[in-house]
Amino acid sequence: MSERNPSSGPLVEGPHDPEHDPTASYALDRAYVDNLTRRLVATSGATAEVRSPINEQPLAHVPQSSEADVDEAFRRARKAQEEWSRTTIDTRAAAMLRLHDLVLDRQDEIIDLICWESGKARKHAFDEPLHIALTARYHARTAHHHLDSRRIRGVIPGLTRVDLHRHPKGVVGIISPWNYPFTMALCDGLPALLAGNAVVVKPDAQTMLSALLAAQLLEEAGFPTDIWQVVSGPGPHIGPELVKRADYICFTGSTATGRIIAKDCADRLIGCSLELGGKNPILVLRDADLEKAAEGAVRAAFSNAGQLCVSMERLFVADQVYDRFLERFVARTEAMTLGSTLDWGNDMGPLISKRQLETVTAHVEDAVSKGARVLTGGRARPDLGPYFFEPTILEGVTPDMTCFGQETFGPVISAYRFTDEADAIARANDGEYGLNASIYSRDGARARAIAGEIKCGTVNVNEAFAATFGSLEAPMGGMRQSGLGRRQGAEGVLRYTETQSVGTQRMIRIAPMFGMSDQAYAKLMTTNLRLLKKLGRA
Ligand code: NAD
Repeated sequence: MSERNPSSGPLVEGPHDPEHDPTASYALDRAYVDNLTRRLVATSGATAEVRSPINEQPLAHVPQSSEADVDEAFRRARKAQEEWSRTTIDTRAAAMLRLHDLVLDRQDEIIDLICWESGKARKHAFDEPLHIALTARYHARTAHHHLDSRRIRGVIPGLTRVDLHRHPKGVVGIISPWNYPFTMALCDGLPALLAGNAVVVKPDAQTMLSALLAAQLLEEAGFPTDIWQVVSGPGPHIGPELVKRADYICFTGSTATGRIIAKDCADRLIGCSLELGGKNPILVLRDADLEKAAEGAVRAAFSNAGQLCVSMERLFVADQVYDRFLERFVARTEAMTLGSTLDWGNDMGPLISKRQLETVTAHVEDAVSKGARVLTGGRARPDLGPYFFEPTILEGVTPDMTCFGQETFGPVISAYRFTDEADAIARANDGEYGLNASIYSRDGARARAIAGEIKCGTVNVNEAFAATFGSLEAPMGGMRQSGLGRRQGAEGVLRYTETQSVGTQRMIRIAPMFGMSDQAYAKLMTTNLRLLKKLGRA
């Protein structure tokens, strides 16, 4: 058993004492793991084993929450929220800025844990502390702008005063996925805290430890211990328990689950934001810088092995440059470094699970069996790790193939030619999703005009997704079946508030006065309305 200090981070070398499985060794220091899992409200006595996709080594036996535990988590959160909502915005923003520093200081520990749990390449794991630092700083610095009470114009200028207040919703339930386990558990919760809410989060069962480390860092940054509760358990069992108790739900995951959650929220008449799936298009116009576009397409399609909501699975290339572009894209894809290690230097790691591997394999096999051509990749790589699948570019994909319209959520992209831009726009808009799009062109103005025609919540010109995702002022979310509501920007924080308008009337009432008849009052008001319009008043 290692003597390592639990706060010093996970070990990167096994083996360690096997507890439940005599043939296995633990990848992480047990004291470190216990220090994280003790944060869970989970007294059922049941545990769920989590193994690393890197080498299938056990990482933890995570205690599982019962319905009574979820109840307890909400009780604690509500109690903490009463006090927290009375703190000043400056107090909350200061904690947010301390979190910013802490996340940057402890990035190695955070990244190691993310890599162990998700298998992703280190450079993609780095995106997570990076995104949380950006999020914390943005919300801290814009808190007053978004949340301060303010006076707005009343119906009778000068005589009607209206004050607008933003009250917290109460306790926000967050249900998060496994693909970006640290940032997805945390990024939507930070604006909720800033607005004076408490949070109960249910991370995905495969990536509880990264989410628990996030909870630990919040406490170290000075947020009250009980303001952030973490519960565990299978999504279909524990997820609905959050929806039954929360004042607002923020969900990130598949469209199928999003629909269930929206119905449950409708029954309780509570609000929700849903960040869902996509089948995102990347357009390479005839005037694109082909090297730049090929480099961008690699990141667009294969970041985090394609397990990224905003990554691209459909590539539309202008006929005139199709062959030259594909040659470059294939060459860059084949030059990628694949590996299941925690070191810097890998361009892509394994998929997170057997289930993901089976989905990706099934999509590619289905396409190939129906006539699609594999330009590169196309097979699993068990020699590199149990769930490895090569970055894959397909051609000749047709509507009868599963991967034509269904999200693969893996490292598979289908290339298509287009003849004119109207054709490209129509095909990019085909299907039910509308999350993210990317356009490569040397003519920024032209690309932005095309962006206006694309039915996606975000469009990135000469970049895959980071231009919008990294710009925290930019609202992120999906149109159509890709979601409801937005994270980031003003909308990202205001969704967690109840707006209250307080109107104060002075001197004259808003009704007939001095014996005036209703008819005379109607005439006077009609004249007033016409006058105010002429004066240009709202
Ligand atoms: P999923 O819907 O299966 O699971 C997401 C979360 O919901 C998990 O925590 C899970 O335990 C929970 N859950 C599952 N069933 C539930 C139920 N019936 N009630 C309540 N909670 C339930 O999604 P996934 O397969 O884990 O994640 C991948 C999907 O997420 C992809 O479709 C991807 O595009 C999407 N995603 C979207 C975004 C975004 O910002 N738009 C970000 C990341 C992932």
